[in-house]
Amino acid sequence: MSLTIRQRLAYRAASVLPLGHHDARTERGLLSVTFDDFPRSAWTVGGELMAEAGGQATYYLSGTFHNSNVDGVPYFRDDDVAQLVAAGHELGCHSFDHRSVLESSLGNYLRSVEKNAEFIGSLLPGYCLRSHAFPYGHVRIAHRIALRRRFEVLRGIHTPRSVAGFDPTHADAGGLEDRRQGEIDWPRLIAETARAHGWLVLFTHGVTDRPSPYDTRPLELKRILSCAKSEGLDILSVGGALDRMRAARSGELGRAD
Ligand SMILES: [Zn+2]
Repeated sequence: MSLTIRQRLAYRAASVLPLGHHDARTERGLLSVTFDDFPRSAWTVGGELMAEAGGQATYYLSGTFHNSNVDGVPYFRDDDVAQLVAAGHELGCHSFDHRSVLESSLGNYLRSVEKNAEFIGSLLPGYCLRSHAFPYGHVRIAHRIALRRRFEVLRGIHTPRSVAGFDPTHADAGGLEDRRQGEIDWPRLIAETARAHGWLVLFTHGVTDRPSPYDTRPLELKRILSCAKSEGLDILSVGGALDRMRAARSGELGRAD
């Protein structure tokens, strides 16, 4: 989507303001793979690659794409959602209508997020959603503050600057998208995550050999997963990563006692 100058400025100001800090360090360092929206291939192909790597991913589902076909790309169906959760992956919450926060009032945005949570609840009653991803990565300060009360972490799309910690109101995530090939030095970032025992998050959409600019190729994802494994990172969903960080903190407290 194209932004007006005013929207661009609002987004830039809202995205750089720190509103919190969480220590991400764990014993081994972590990689989280996140799929947004999500096209079926994120599960049918991406899920297979995750299983090969022995990892769990997070799928930021947006209800508007349910059973849909956009530009020839099929999106998730009910059984995909049930199957991926049964396989140990996590569902995260996008908004239902997938509108940018720059085009929605806070009230409308929160309603769309709740509608999405209700939609997920209709597929999987009682499912606990722990994180949110902002559509297009756009953020506003009020939205960051309001949603932090609802979710443990809110994911953006800024290339990670520090992997040792993150802002829970706007966590960085590198784009593993075809249009951004060559922008991020993934092996370097993965090695840095291993050195810092930190947390690296990446995002994409579909996983296909005929990618849209927003998808990734299977070989590319496979390369990242194998690099993370050889550097000793654990590959966990966002919720799994948060649990691992919490366990690391309580271990430290235990030792201090
Ligand atoms: Zn999205």
